[in-house]
Amino acid sequence: MDKLFKANFYPGPSRLYDEVADYASDAFKKGILSINHRSPVFEDLFRLTKERLFTYLNVPKDYHLVFTSSATECWEIISQSLVEDSSFHLYNGNFGKKWFEYAGKINQNTESAYFSPNTLIRPEDLNVPLDSEWICVTQNETSNGTQVHNETIAAIRKAFPDQFIAVDATSSMAGVDLNFTDADLWFASVQKCFGLPAGLGIMIFSDAVVKKSQSVSESNHYNSFANFIYNEKKNQTHITPNVMGIYLLFRLFDKLESIKEVDKKITERAKHLYSYFQGYSEFQPITQNHHCYSSTVLAFEGEPGFINDLKKAASQHGIILGNGYGDWKNTSFRIANFPAIPDSEVEQLIAFFDQY
Ligand SMILES: *Cc1c(COP(=O)(O)O)cnc(C)c1O
Repeated sequence: MDKLFKANFYPGPSRLYDEVADYASDAFKKGILSINHRSPVFEDLFRLTKERLFTYLNVPKDYHLVFTSSATECWEIISQSLVEDSSFHLYNGNFGKKWFEYAGKINQNTESAYFSPNTLIRPEDLNVPLDSEWICVTQNETSNGTQVHNETIAAIRKAFPDQFIAVDATSSMAGVDLNFTDADLWFASVQKCFGLPAGLGIMIFSDAVVKKSQSVSESNHYNSFANFIYNEKKNQTHITPNVMGIYLLFRLFDKLESIKEVDKKITERAKHLYSYFQGYSEFQPITQNHHCYSSTVLAFEGEPGFINDLKKAASQHGIILGNGYGDWKNTSFRIANFPAIPDSEVEQLIAFFDQY
């Protein structure tokens, strides 16, 4: 069967690693897809996947891992089970804003601060309300191609030692070398930088978060945090999990060796792309501050007519560009610079732009 396209730069669901085909076939052949999630085989898979993931990402050994269905579910779990009264959301784009809005539906005292896509967050400028238990940060804002770097998260941590910090790293985890000790809770889903099919969320958190959940003591929902940690202790999940997704994640580390290497490669390739696209007057990065540039998702703004024609022409060449999102839906296109995308496909992208 013919492939639908030659190269896919959609920032999620995104291009998969080629090896996924073999891993998926192995999962089927081995019978993994039919195992019981209370069985020792599953417990081993859970334990080993956590070990490999934490080693790869450099997550502290005493942090916890649970699997959810998506990153969006993580937003809700936090508000539902880990917040007594209020969380404080920093955002500059539509994913951070959506998170804030979901949180507000669960806890009416949810607060937020907007910053512009051109601004680097400085903790001294933040008025975090004293009663806010959490500071919520979107590390990579997929809607506008901006990033909050490790140093900024570390500075927020230092400035606000009494608050928990939650980080949405959905479109950067496994592509950026994150400093996990600087926040209490991190989450992502696998259809972005992990280069795996959608349907699995990852939530990583410290012991302090487990204690916090005990004081909030919420257990009214199928996805209450208490259910996750009760089963995590046994290397199990409370729901019948996405075993295929977990197995693919486990196998991914046959291939991936070092997040430092991946981060370096992605950062260099992003630099190359940003400088290449400087040659175009018809569009420019949504953020005008290069310190805010995302290494994993590039978002460019231009006239809606131009953007529309560009996406169409690319598609006719078998190249999928990401649509704009949220506030930038019609005025931008996005390019995923995820690790699973081979350099050869980035070259095809550039060849297309060269002749456009
Ligand atoms: C994609 C994305 C989400 C939503 O992820 P799902 O797994 O589809 O729920 C949330 N936050 C950010 C920053 C994203 O890029």
